[in-house]
Formats: sequence, C-alpha cells, structure tokens
Amino acid sequence: MTKHNPFWKALIHFPIFPVDNAKQVLRIRRLFMASTAYLLCIIVAYCSYLAGMMEWQAIAGFLIIIPVINIVLYIVFRTGFNLRMADPSLTAIQMCAGILVAMYGLYFANESRGVLLLVYVIILLFGIFRLNYRSFLLISLFALLTYGVDIVLLHYFRAQKVNLHIEYLQLVVLAFVLVAFSVLGGYISALRQNLSISRSGLEKSIATIRELSIRDELTYVYNRRHLMDLLEYEKNRALRGGELFSIVMLDIDNFKEVNDQHGHLVGDKVLRTVTNAICHALRSTDFCGRYGGDEFLLVLTQTDIKEAMICAERVRSDIEQSLFPDLGEDFKITVSLGLTEYHVQEDIGKSIARADDAVYRAKKAGRNRLELVA
Ligand code: GH3
Ligand code: MG
Repeated sequence: MTKHNPFWKALIHFPIFPVDNAKQVLRIRRLFMASTAYLLCIIVAYCSYLAGMMEWQAIAGFLIIIPVINIVLYIVFRTGFNLRMADPSLTAIQMCAGILVAMYGLYFANESRGVLLLVYVIILLFGIFRLNYRSFLLISLFALLTYGVDIVLLHYFRAQKVNLHIEYLQLVVLAFVLVAFSVLGGYISALRQNLSISRSGLEKSIATIRELSIRDELTYVYNRRHLMDLLEYEKNRALRGGELFSIVMLDIDNFKEVNDQHGHLVGDKVLRTVTNAICHALRSTDFCGRYGGDEFLLVLTQTDIKEAMICAERVRSDIEQSLFPDLGEDFKITVSLGLTEYHVQEDIGKSIARADDAVYRAKKAGRNRLELVA
C-alpha cells in the first residue's frame, strides 16, 4: 500500500542533491562533511561517557541538537534559501553552530575537556578556504567567548568538579591557537582570492584570444579559417540527415576605385559598413565570414536556394541603400552575389567554386545583382 502512496513515492524519488546547480551540490557535500564530523564527535563523546569522563546530558543533548542543526541546514540548502544570503555557503553560520555545540558538550566534559578543545581547531578548519582574516578573528573571538561562558557557568554551578586554574590556562592556550589559526586562515584565504582573480583574468584572456583567432581583425566577422571550420560542421550535419544549407559569395563592385580615389583607410571603413549591413540582414542562425579582400561568404543554414535568393536580395538592397558619408552624399556601394545550394556528400570546395562562378556571372551581367548556380 505504501508503495503506491504518492507521498512515499515522492520521498523515495526525491534527489538528495539538486540536479541543476553544481555550486549547491558542493555546498550540500560540505554540509555532509560537517555532519560526519558531528557524528564522530557523538562517538567520541559516547566513548568518553563510557570511560566516565563525560556526563550523559552531553550525549542526550547532542542527539537532539546535532540532528536538528543538520536537518535545518539541509532544508535551507536544498530549498535554495541560502542563496538569499551574502555568503550562500553559510560558512560562518555553520561554524558558529559548531562552536555552540562544542560549548554545550565541553560543559559536561569533566576531565576530558582539555583534549576536547581540539574540536575548535576542527571547526576553524572548515573556514580555512572561505573566510577572510577579519571573519576568522571574529569567529575565534566568539569561540573564546563561548569557552569563557563555560568557565563562568562551571565556576558557579559545578565548582567542585573543575580546577579553574587549569581552565584559565586552557583558555589562554586556546586564544593563542585560535589567533595563530586566524592569521594562517586569513593568509590562505587571501591566497585563494588572488588565485581566483588570476584565474578569472586568465579565462577572460583565453576568451579574448579565441575571439581574435576566429575573427577578421578589420571587419570583425569570422575569418576564412573559422569559416571553413563552420562549413565543415554544416556539411557533417547535412550528412547526418540534417537540413541542407545555401552559400552566398558576395563581392563588392569596383572596390578598387574606392581605394584609388579615397584611400585605403576610407576603403577599410566601407568594408566595415558593408559587413555591418550584411550582419543586420542575416538571421541569427546564419553566419558570415571574410573570404578574402572584398569577398565575403554568407552561410544560410537550413535554407534552400529559393529562400536563399530572398535573403541575398535583402542583403543586396540593404547595402545599396547604405550611406557612405566619406564617399559623398549620393555615392552608392553595390555588391554582386553568387548563390548555390550545398549538395550532400560533395566537398565544400566544390560548393564554394560554384558560388564563385555565380559571382563571376553577376559581374559579367552588369554587377549589383545576384546569380545562382544550382
Ligand atoms: P569587381 O567589381 O570586379 O569586383 O571590381 P573590384 O575593383 O572590386 O575588384 P576586386 O574585387 O578584384 O578588387 C578587390 C580590391 O579590394 C583589391 C584590393 O585593393 C582591395 N582590398 C582588399 N583587401 C582590402 C582591405 O583590407 N582594405 C582595403 N581598403 N582594400 C582592400
Ligand atoms: Mg570586388
């Protein structure tokens, strides 16, 4: 019966870790590490109890407080409530919770209290990669304060069971250890921060280098090498049964004259304006690259020759209507375009040669037009 109950079904299939957020998975893993440390503490406390060095209240309290803390934290992480906090890892909160648990246990620890102070070191270890020097110091102060509270409580309620001189000595030694830990932890965390800054700088540089390596530096459209890589990819897609694509070769008409009459720098500007017009006229799934000089190759994905003609005509007319203030108010730049459709299994070079052939025909037929070779 229980098997078919929707509640149990949901519970059985409930994923312990979120499936779509790697950082949250990491945070929950860290929580489980802390839970394991808590479990070890319970075992040590129980052994101390068996040896007569710990009182039963410590074990009883642990068995209530520790599961509550861990379940609450798990719910906070699993529901994503932690993402609203400044530090979504909740490192400081988890450490403070650990310190309070330690404070409770140490109160009942009797002779073993000195040794069990090591628990503070374990708690601080959890913050070593996350907390900065200041937070580390604050948490150390909090730990000292809680131990100080323990001493005061012991002094008032169990004076016969403690040697206050030893407790004070332990407090001083603990202060030294915690300060040393804070300095070391702060240093490690600064190192980590520097490393992550250098890493993100490196990632940005790699992204920039990659962009530069695939783009033409003047027009910023793809360069010829990357264009050929993308064409190979499209070819393989077509081979695997994907849709066919069309290729358009575009060549600026009489571009030499622009260079001759207005200089190379103006010529460069014209190339940029033309590429902008091309990119605006293309759909987001199409791409364009500089094939060489004043020649550009447009790849129209999932497009047959009929649709390609409409697209190529849009490109032609947009360029014809573009303004070139450097060349004079009424000056028109035109382009000739050659279209072809990729034939499955043929070499990409063959399709490009056909598009080239079509451009040649367009030039011969008077320029500022498109031709196709099927
Ligand atoms: P057609 O109509 O037959 O294409 O005539 P055209 O004058 O455009 O002749 P062609 O396409 O053969 O000439 C291309 C010119 O493009 C030659 C070269 O000076 C110029 N060119 C090539 N690369 C650049 C560049 O990066 N900047 C500039 N400003 N000009 C370039
Ligand atoms: Mg030309």
